[in-house]
Amino acid sequence: MNVTRIAAKHPDVFIEQSGMRENVQIIRRRELPVEQRPKLKVAAYCRVSTDREEQETSIKIQMETYQQIIEEHPDWELAEIYADPGATGLMASKRPDFLRMIEDAKAGKIDIILAKSISRFARNTEDMLKYTRMLRSIGVGVIFEKEKIDTRSSTSEMLLTIYAAFSQEESHDISEWSKVGIRNDAARGKTRFHKLYGYTSKGKDKWIVVPDEAEIVRRIFNSYIKGASIREIAEELNAEGIPTKEGVNWKSSTLSSIIQNEKYTGDYLFQKTYVDDFLTKRSVNNTDAKLPQYYITDNHEALVSKEVFAEAQEIMHMRNVYKGANLYPYYGFLICPECGTPLVCFVLQMQTSTRCWVCPGHKDGVKRKDRADCKPFTFYEKLIDEAVRRAILGLKNMKGVEKDELEGIQEKIKENGRIERWYLKTLVKNITFPDYEHLTVNWKDGRKVTVPLTIKRYWFHPYPEIGEKGNGYIEYGGEQMVLRRLSKVQDCIAGRNRWVQELEITMPDAEDPIQVPVVRKGK
Ligand SMILES: [Zn+2]
Repeated sequence: MNVTRIAAKHPDVFIEQSGMRENVQIIRRRELPVEQRPKLKVAAYCRVSTDREEQETSIKIQMETYQQIIEEHPDWELAEIYADPGATGLMASKRPDFLRMIEDAKAGKIDIILAKSISRFARNTEDMLKYTRMLRSIGVGVIFEKEKIDTRSSTSEMLLTIYAAFSQEESHDISEWSKVGIRNDAARGKTRFHKLYGYTSKGKDKWIVVPDEAEIVRRIFNSYIKGASIREIAEELNAEGIPTKEGVNWKSSTLSSIIQNEKYTGDYLFQKTYVDDFLTKRSVNNTDAKLPQYYITDNHEALVSKEVFAEAQEIMHMRNVYKGANLYPYYGFLICPECGTPLVCFVLQMQTSTRCWVCPGHKDGVKRKDRADCKPFTFYEKLIDEAVRRAILGLKNMKGVEKDELEGIQEKIKENGRIERWYLKTLVKNITFPDYEHLTVNWKDGRKVTVPLTIKRYWFHPYPEIGEKGNGYIEYGGEQMVLRRLSKVQDCIAGRNRWVQELEITMPDAEDPIQVPVVRKGK
């Protein structure tokens, strides 16, 4: 290559002999004296990220600092200092000066933009990459002071992506912090109103009862604890043309969530769920209290009493066949003739499902295979039903119970034959078995009646032998068969005990093993 030819093409280029070797010439560009060099038009972008009073001064200080930096740099001249007050969201569209700066850059008024940090410049990866790429494509560089990245360099793209990821994390932290604020409010007993059937709101935290809806809520709870199933309640409300809050038909799921909502007792459990992943916004149940929960008593006007609510929860748990055996309606009333433990229900799967009440053998769960502390026997529910029906229908009066109420119960029994838990709760203390051919109903007022019960005694009854193959099996009359939901029976009892415990720990003044802080409002 002819070096003189290269030099000729560029007036500012000159050729110099290397001092190291004779056969080396150096082609150099002539350095202009500082005052003759064309200056780069440099702008700066300022932003503060918190909404405080010092924000104003912070911006002023930033602007003055940039002005000084730019003026002191020999190759730079000040284009303009752009500034947006922070705190208003993360989007570029909410930053007018930022957008004006971009337009000026497009118009050729800017060569370089100085920014304090990536997070001040753009608050998400997408925005930041979009703008820096666009600016680079029109020959405008951005220099991030904190991260020491100059987007005019070839490695900047990779560095930017990495830093942007961290910046996103920072933004996540900020939203985490605002959640902490909400939690602190909850800890002080301050709650936010959420749309809820039966209530409306005035402002953010004032709960106002909607009388018509409140009446329906009370009716739902009342029907439920008197034995109506959720499906029956839904059918009834729909038949009467009573709409939900959304103006649609009642569904089982809607009713079930009403019946389980503690807010109807005037209390408020905060942090039932939480967002697990801030990107996917996936909401998960906080049942294990991964985050602290706050139980606020008497937060607003109650629609149902705590007693009615507790009764409804108990029934719901007992009726939940998905969680285990259905222990409705007798659990807690039938007493084992051998050891005094409350009997539990299980279902033998034969030609037809047969509900039986048996002794769990242990006070704290169903462990049928280990019967060391009790004898095996089986009471068919049908026979218990029949005996209890006869006992209740034979009642003339009951101390402490209105005649109307007793007659109402008797009418209902004649009508559909069902034994509901609330009949037992109203009239019965417990039911014992003096022998295997009778049951004794011990009434609440201290009287009792013994009714014949046709059952097979355990020594006549082909007692089911319980084994542990897979889900468990039983041997019934010499024949081995799978017991329907053996493990579920156990789960159900465990679950019920757990539920009762949970109820206790959410009560004020209880010592709570899973750390659910109880917060009293006011006082
Ligand atoms: Zn027993």
